Amino acid sequence: MSKLERILKRVYEAPLPEAADLERLLSLNEREDIEAIFSFADKVRREFCGDGIALRGIIEFSNFCQRECAYCGLNKGNRAIQRYRMSKNELLKAVKDLDCRNIKTVVLQSGEDSRLDASWLEDVILEIKSGFDMAITLSVGERSEHDYRTWKNAGADRYLLKIETSDEGLYSSLHPHMDFSRRLDCLRILKGLGYQTGSGNIIGLPGQTPESIARDIIFFKRGDFDMIGIGPFIPHQSSSLAGRQKGDPLLSLKTVALTRIVTRDTHIPATTALGSLERDYRMEGLKCGANVLMPNFTPRPFRDLYEIYPGKKCVDEPVGECDICTQGMAEALGRFIDHSRADSLKMRMRQVSGALPR
Ligand code: SF4
Repeated sequence: MSKLERILKRVYEAPLPEAADLERLLSLNEREDIEAIFSFADKVRREFCGDGIALRGIIEFSNFCQRECAYCGLNKGNRAIQRYRMSKNELLKAVKDLDCRNIKTVVLQSGEDSRLDASWLEDVILEIKSGFDMAITLSVGERSEHDYRTWKNAGADRYLLKIETSDEGLYSSLHPHMDFSRRLDCLRILKGLGYQTGSGNIIGLPGQTPESIARDIIFFKRGDFDMIGIGPFIPHQSSSLAGRQKGDPLLSLKTVALTRIVTRDTHIPATTALGSLERDYRMEGLKCGANVLMPNFTPRPFRDLYEIYPGKKCVDEPVGECDICTQGMAEALGRFIDHSRADSLKMRMRQVSGALPR
């Protein structure tokens, strides 16, 4: 067994891997080393998730936001974008589009909109649940325990609240007036309420170190999250990080691969951000650990206005084109589109066997 294989085995088998091991793997750039890491991750993905590629249809229903995240084009200081809130009817029509394409998860996403009324979203959830056989993921930021409970009781299944970075100092510098411990409290509350809970990070943030990414991966393992979204940093011209260097696609892919190896049975998307660099890296993501794609079902004219970063993939495609694109990716990889709800795999695979993947 080579030295690299020994480290990969150690990282895979450890109840909590060493940050130094992960850092070392993240620093490798030789082609054969990368291939060994990606191939190991792909085997873990096959062993724990199978060959299905799950689909999550995303609807971005409001781009209002009260936050000032340094990397995001929706930050409240950006006066250059036109803000919108979709009506309930517009949103439900988009859900119908998604249902017609046999997609069984809708992700309802918005900026952290202070005027998002909890009862309005509760009604939307109730209507979706009564009209469609569909899992609902919410991604609307930090809210009160009361709101989280209201939506869970109405039928919401999952909640996505990315940590973006587990490095508290870096988190504070990127999120003015936000509190890292509050973020952690929200995650605890969501888990306590029984949501399938998602986290994730951004790769290539100014000030981020390989050690910090290694610690993100350990954070994901400790948190036992049901889904983890990893995307490269893409600077937005109307954010405080305008003009900074983009995240490195290879480092992003290595983070996907190591997150798969360490967390094993988590749903990991080949994120839209991974598809929005100088070329589309989602296929590579699917080859090194990812098992989910997230087609965009936000209708026009709203879709163009949800610009968290520039050059976002799939903004120009007609909604139906996603079928061709996702099917094409699955076929090219010898895999298939999974049209089930694809709920958390943690429920049936919480036991960690310690055995190497076949
Ligand atoms: S990342 Fe989310 S919370 Fe932060 S500014 Fe963008 S939309 Fe708002």
